[in-house]
Amino acid sequence: MPSAFVDDIREVKEDNPFESMMERFDHAAQLLNLDPDLYKVLRVPNREITIYIPVFMDDGHIEVFTGYRVQHNFARGPAKGGIRFAPNVTLDEIRALAAWMTWKCAVVNIPFGGAMGGVICDPSQMSQSELERMTRRYTAELIDFIGPERDVPAPDMNTSEQTMAWIMDTYSMHARHTVTAVVTGKPIDLSGSKGRREATGRGVMLVTNEAVQKHGLKYGETRVVIQGSGNVGSVAAQLMSEAGYQVVAVSDIHGGVYNENGLDIPDLQAYLAKNKSFEKYGKAEPISNMDLLELPCEVLIPAATENQITSHNADRIQCKILVEGANGPTTAAADEILERKNVFVIPDILANAGGVTCSYFEWVQDRMGYFWKEDMVNERLKDIMVDSFHEVVRYAERHNVNMRIASYILAIDRVANITRVRGIYA
Ligand code: GLU
Repeated sequence: MPSAFVDDIREVKEDNPFESMMERFDHAAQLLNLDPDLYKVLRVPNREITIYIPVFMDDGHIEVFTGYRVQHNFARGPAKGGIRFAPNVTLDEIRALAAWMTWKCAVVNIPFGGAMGGVICDPSQMSQSELERMTRRYTAELIDFIGPERDVPAPDMNTSEQTMAWIMDTYSMHARHTVTAVVTGKPIDLSGSKGRREATGRGVMLVTNEAVQKHGLKYGETRVVIQGSGNVGSVAAQLMSEAGYQVVAVSDIHGGVYNENGLDIPDLQAYLAKNKSFEKYGKAEPISNMDLLELPCEVLIPAATENQITSHNADRIQCKILVEGANGPTTAAADEILERKNVFVIPDILANAGGVTCSYFEWVQDRMGYFWKEDMVNERLKDIMVDSFHEVVRYAERHNVNMRIASYILAIDRVANITRVRGIYA
């Protein structure tokens, strides 16, 4: 979209997540009347690091992987965000995800900036020891840039509690003492937080509950479709079926299953754990990941990856409420179509913020050396997610905009205010 602020010409490609992020950012900045100087500061990341990572493969030869860490903003506190391992990682994707972390932490008002990391690799083709060596070398290269007060990584796509344990250990070896707060999403035994593994999916459910109530729907009559069976989708499916929602379709990377009368989620999850795919699950209709998005339902939760709802299929989306469990599942071009169709969108930077909110709790607990019961973690998570949802609703009403733009306005306002008061060190 044209912007009075834009001082360079960007070629807008619908499937470039950075462009999708910038379009919303520009729109919100205009509505907010953001000071043009602050706009210049906030539209770019603070620092982008590219690392070439030589790794001894198991057969003795060396592969050199390319990795990134983009530190988008530090105004509100240490940078915070995940690390993903995937063959299709690009710098623009990592840039977008880093910026989204800044806005996400600001929407839920936790004292972090935003960052994101990624390594271009295919973890499905690598052994555990190859992954360990790659992770440790990546960490060693970043040693001066990460830390509890600097930048605190966490898991994302294809990285796990184990990945965080290797990062924590490598960092601690260099520091000559154990530094648990350098990463979050660690195993509980290594000073991780109770509830962290479930927190993103739980947060998705908590904001969905608020939206469902706002729309006057009852859980039992609310059909839910979930794309993705990773950490977000699988936990959301489990918790939402326990809460009484009718989960009618789920999927994993290979495809999904659909039953208009509701699925038996525990049975499906046991099946997936055993068979690694829903393909031969006989008790429901098979469905592709793309067709699943167009199913009749009240709540649609894309919880897999970016660019799933685009200008090509947004018109066929049938849900009333779209809850973005993934980061960037909807392109900026699709936003307008969804708005025309009156779909209530709970944007990623609000909907999936439960993960980083619990990461904040983990970081706090590590720094105190005092650990909370799971009930306390979940109660505090609920407070933050429910309050943030209503804060975004208030912004949407006040500025007469949709939930996505409202959440950007809220986030940019918070980051801009702090930047203004701190001043620019020059
Ligand atoms: N990767 C997750 C996200 O995108 C978690 C980040 C974190 O906990 O720092 O929100």
